[in-house]
Amino acid sequence: MVTRRGFVGQTAFLGFTLLNGGRLWSATETDLGDAMITTLSDGHLSLPESFLFGDLDRDAVERVLGETGASARALEPPCNLTLFRANGAVVLFDAGSGPSFMPSAGKLPAALNAAGVSAEDVTHVVFTHAHPDHLWGVLDDFDEPVFANAQHLMGGDELAYWSSPDTLETISPERQSFAAGAARRIEILGDRLATFDDAERIIPGITSVMTPGHTPGHMSFEIAGDTGRVFLIGDAIGNDHVAFAHPEWHAPADQDPETGARTRLALFERLTEDDVQAVGFHLPSGGLGRIVRSGDRFDWDAG
Ligand SMILES: [Zn+2]
Repeated sequence: MVTRRGFVGQTAFLGFTLLNGGRLWSATETDLGDAMITTLSDGHLSLPESFLFGDLDRDAVERVLGETGASARALEPPCNLTLFRANGAVVLFDAGSGPSFMPSAGKLPAALNAAGVSAEDVTHVVFTHAHPDHLWGVLDDFDEPVFANAQHLMGGDELAYWSSPDTLETISPERQSFAAGAARRIEILGDRLATFDDAERIIPGITSVMTPGHTPGHMSFEIAGDTGRVFLIGDAIGNDHVAFAHPEWHAPADQDPETGARTRLALFERLTEDDVQAVGFHLPSGGLGRIVRSGDRFDWDAG
């Protein structure tokens, strides 16, 4: 007899093999002593230009894309989920796109499988924010929670925003499907979903850092093991081209572009001053690397 979970796993696996010519997953890893960080690929998005570049000066954008070598890949950003393993905790940051957002994304089941981790092993799912490519993977094809044994955690402001009945009425038309999708999943998760605040030690080794603008309650995380640290950026720095060359530009992908730019500039200062490893959800090479200052702009060093 084919079980529900076996069926879901198999379809995800087959879809991935067909679309990507046999490449099953990608991952990068860093050892923090008593903790291990692994990034897992959920595939990639295919975005319309308007979502990334909107009203930005077209010539200036083209120049940045040319200089950073990002022209060919800018509209297909990778999605990197992060797994933190320490002292019995198996913490997944964000849940990926799941089966119904985009055919090029939702590959997490294959990546977890290849890493030898089952969905049932995950003890916590911690969300940076409630956009589809971060939240929708919490439910399977049958609308049941994928991570059946996990406590799910979301920033309090983020949860309040997407669960409010006003949000669907007030959000811009192109984001209405985000709002409906988030509200439905939050409702189904019910009391499996708890909240946390800014600067809270939510799990030993993991502290929240409020980074609003991309969404109203977007959270980043400082992750510490006994020999190293990683700063998890989420979508607060959303790409390695325009955001790195001109962090002050208003990014159309940010719901509140002015706050998003302020947050981004502060993060660039903090991360280059600390010289800390960083992981970005849509940054290249598995999303794990270092942000380095280069004159009046920034570069991504994946080495
Ligand atoms: Zn996002």
